[in-house]
Formats: sequence, C-alpha cells, structure tokens
Amino acid sequence: ERAELAQFVGVSTVAASGERFELFANIGKPDDATQAMERDAEGIGLFRTEFLFMDAMSMPTEDEQFEAYKKVALICKGKPVIVRTLDVGGDKEIGYMGFEREDNPFMGYRAIRYCLSNEDMYRAQLRAILRASAFGEVRIMVPFVTCVDEITVVKALVKRYMQELDAEGVAYDANIQVGVMVETPAAALVADLLAQEADFFSIGTNDLTGYTMCADRGNDKVRYLYSTYNPAVLRSIRRIIECGNAAGIQVGMCGEAAADSLLVPLWIAFGLGEYSVSGTSVLATRKSISLWSKEDACALAEKAMQLKTATEVYDLLRESAR
Ligand code: PEP
Ligand code: MG
Repeated sequence: ERAELAQFVGVSTVAASGERFELFANIGKPDDATQAMERDAEGIGLFRTEFLFMDAMSMPTEDEQFEAYKKVALICKGKPVIVRTLDVGGDKEIGYMGFEREDNPFMGYRAIRYCLSNEDMYRAQLRAILRASAFGEVRIMVPFVTCVDEITVVKALVKRYMQELDAEGVAYDANIQVGVMVETPAAALVADLLAQEADFFSIGTNDLTGYTMCADRGNDKVRYLYSTYNPAVLRSIRRIIECGNAAGIQVGMCGEAAADSLLVPLWIAFGLGEYSVSGTSVLATRKSISLWSKEDACALAEKAMQLKTATEVYDLLRESAR
C-alpha cells in the first residue's frame, strides 16, 4: 500500500477535474506536528490543545502554552496551523479544573462555555496563541459554538489582548484568523449568520453526527444511529458548506468523516475546500480526492441526497467506490 501511495507524496491535492484542495492533519501534541509534516500534510487543521492541559498537573501558564504553540508554528514553517482553544468537559475532564458532576455533561459546561466563564484561563491561552502567531501562519478556532454571541465575544477578547500585546511591545499577527468549529446542530442552523462573523469554518463531524442524531457512539444500544451517512447529518453538512462558501470564507472538515473515502465525493460535490485528517490518512485522502472529478462527484451526490436512509446512502457510496 505504501508503494501505491508513493506517487501522492510531495504533490498538491487535486480532484481529477483539476480543482485544488487543502489537506491538513489533526494533532494532539506539539511533537505530532513533525510526523504530520513528514506525512506530507499541507498544514495543521486541528491542534487539539486539551492534551497540553490533560498532561499537566495544573493549568499550563501562558509562557508554557506559548512555547508549545510556537513549536508547532516553527515545525510547520509558514504552513497554516489551526489551534483549537480548549475543548474540555463532556468526555474530557481535567482534575484540577474542578468540574462539578453534571447530569448531562455533553449538554453542559464544556469547551467555549467553560472558557468564556474562566477569563484568566482563556486570556492566557489566547495571548499564547497570539504570541505564537508571530512565528507562522497561526489561526484560532473556537469549539462547540452554538450561537453568534460566542464568536463575537471571542473576537472582542482577541482584539483586547492584541492591544495588551501592543502596549507590551510583543509581536503577533494582526490579521490572525478566528474561525468557528461547526459541530452542533445549532451552529449548523445559523451557519449563514456565523459565516458573517467567522474567518473560516471547520466542520467537526464527530460531534455533529452525535448531536444531530442524539446518539452516543459509546452506548451499545444506540450506536447504530451514530453515522455520518444519515440524511440528517449529510444535509446539515451540505448546508454548512453552502453557507460558508456563500459568505466567501474557507470551509474545512476536521472530523473522522473527512478521511472516509466513500464520503469524499460528497464533500467534493458540496464544495468543501479543506480536509483535516489524522497524519496516517493524509496520503490516502489525497488519493481519494484525486479519483473524483467534480462532475462525477456531483452526479453521485445528487443521487445520494435523494435517498431516505443511512443504509441506502452507504450502499450507494459503497457500490460507487473508487
Ligand atoms: C469533532 O467533533 O468532529 C472533532 C474533530 O473534535 P473532537 O473529536 O476533538 O471532539
Ligand atoms: Mg468535537
């Protein structure tokens, strides 16, 4: 298989009909960026910063975070690095943050909700990312957004911390992009509004699938519902991409479905511009994309989007697989 993928090393990511895409990698730890670059990723589409927090005994300081983000920026040598701000809560608990027990942690106090009510913590993280942006093409991504206020507040905070850094004479990228991770049904429904505020979208299909289907993939009895092939999830994704493209912002995808070769033609048809996959899937995804022309992908998507069930969609994509 390695030999078969060798032809996809060092080339750009293009569909059979010539359209170009960005193909990034997801990372958890700063060191993972080295491997991602070795595996020919064109950038980092999702840096899950919670690992920095989970591996520590107490809240990492601004300087510690700055070193970690700067390291990734330097490893990537000017390629985009999308740093997702802390995504805690739900299944990701961190002892020293003192979370209280909740009846519904997945609908509770997590991610951006936690960050916006812990301003000192969020300030340290945003300042660290801003400082790292002087060393590469660093972008900020906000997880678990459900309403427009959240992104406008984050943008205001970023502006405030830029002014602080100005006063301190510290360098940063004044044009840093602030994007929204679209992974809740609410965000999908107001994607047209979010697109007016966000510099980019990245679709988090792992959470979007679970929250759209109201199905926990860790629960044996309902796991059968947890599938991105469901018409509800596919319509949601199509809409998010359309809203982002209509507003002229970049739309990417960083959930597992970005690397699903059966779904790639749908993403091409919907107009997805960026894929972020695990390091080990970079070359295979570049190959999947190369096998489809926009025209063929659109013809397949047209059929797939008329089907009524996840099974029908899966069967069609399976028999059309390249
Ligand atoms: C997602 O939800 O699709 C995603 C990429 O984020 P995570 O898996 O870290 O929740
Ligand atoms: Mg998520």
